[in-house]
Amino acid sequence: MKSSFLIKYAEIGVKGKNRFLFEDALVNNAQKALDRVDGKFTVTKEYGRIYATPEEEYDFEEAVDALQHVFGIVGICPMVQIEDNGFEDLAEQVVKYIDENYEDKNFSFKVMARRARKNYPLDSMELNRELGGKILDAFPETHVDVHNPDVILNVEIRNHINIYSKILPGPAGMPVGTAGKAMLLLSGGIDSPVAGWMTAKRGVVVDAVYFHAPPYTSERAKQKVVDLAKLVAKYSGPMKLHVVNFTDIQMYIYDQCPHDELTIIMRRYMMRIAEYFAKQENAQALITGESIGQVASQTMQSLAATNEVCTIPVFRPVIAFDKQEIVDISLKINTYETSILPYEDCCTTFVAKHPVTKPNINVIKGSETHLAEKIDEMMKEAIESVEIIEIGQ
Ligand code: ATP
Ligand code: MG
Repeated sequence: MKSSFLIKYAEIGVKGKNRFLFEDALVNNAQKALDRVDGKFTVTKEYGRIYATPEEEYDFEEAVDALQHVFGIVGICPMVQIEDNGFEDLAEQVVKYIDENYEDKNFSFKVMARRARKNYPLDSMELNRELGGKILDAFPETHVDVHNPDVILNVEIRNHINIYSKILPGPAGMPVGTAGKAMLLLSGGIDSPVAGWMTAKRGVVVDAVYFHAPPYTSERAKQKVVDLAKLVAKYSGPMKLHVVNFTDIQMYIYDQCPHDELTIIMRRYMMRIAEYFAKQENAQALITGESIGQVASQTMQSLAATNEVCTIPVFRPVIAFDKQEIVDISLKINTYETSILPYEDCCTTFVAKHPVTKPNINVIKGSETHLAEKIDEMMKEAIESVEIIEIGQ
């Protein structure tokens, strides 16, 4: 008897001819996640089933936690695998499984047997009935309920026999690495880590760029962004974080442009620089944490003005979310506590009292002409002096 995990996936099952690519990515990602926990595991794929089998002692909670960070997994089933030594042996093992996994036997159950191998002497219905009978005999406190059981005992007859009854939830989504790459504009706020996580959940590899404005923003503010990147990377895999020194550009805009347009113009330069790095890293899109109407720079007109400088798609996964909905996700993915640390943001340092809420693109472009003398040089300098931090997991 061997205990291991059966890994359930849902959506990738519908990918037709390319299904194996998604399965292989999931196997790889699950293996990498488990390589970081104590105890060696081997993740394998076998006839539409993915198994994670421990090779030595391991910490159950830690292994489940690792798998709960792998997108594409919908269910993690702790499972017992036995050899086929005939029905009587199977019945004994099933009774033992119930005994070991359910201290309190006062529950209803149903047996769900499946035969992938049709040469087994009993068919599924007979197995359900016979095994159910054995359980009732062994534990008279239990009872059968086929409609709404407390416990569904799965018995899968394959080359081996799998026995499991518990399904722990996975994070769902698609395996990271199956859907291209995008560049996240990662600030220290609540929204952008959530936006990055949501995009990674669809299988997208995420790199990030952070605009740092020393001395107006501190090392602690930067460290906070590094910490957020690490938390997102627990799900999304290794991430290249680009830290761009934005101070000169910000000061120059402050000196040359109307202050009520400052945020919009700054955001346009952030998008331009982020797009530069996106192209350099072969990322096909940008990601921001913008949400309609949250602040002056996120009205329809402001979004149009910042969008206008981009030539690749800009994904805004939280665009229609209320703040509380974004907070709920950040709590779930454990970024909230870090996001609310009170370190200054480069946008708030220079923010105008009454920023424009309906910027006119032509007016903004007119203001940007005041930057003609030095901005190209400054952009080049900002790009060349980028600090790249490799975020592990
Ligand atoms: P967040 O909670 O993500 O910081 P926010 O509500 O504070 O968002 P803004 O400050 O208007 O909103 O920023 C909107 C988006 O612009 C952010 O979600 C992020 O994607 C990007 N952004 C803002 N500031 C920075 C920065 N310093 N570095 C990188 N990206 C930034
Ligand atoms: Mg912010």
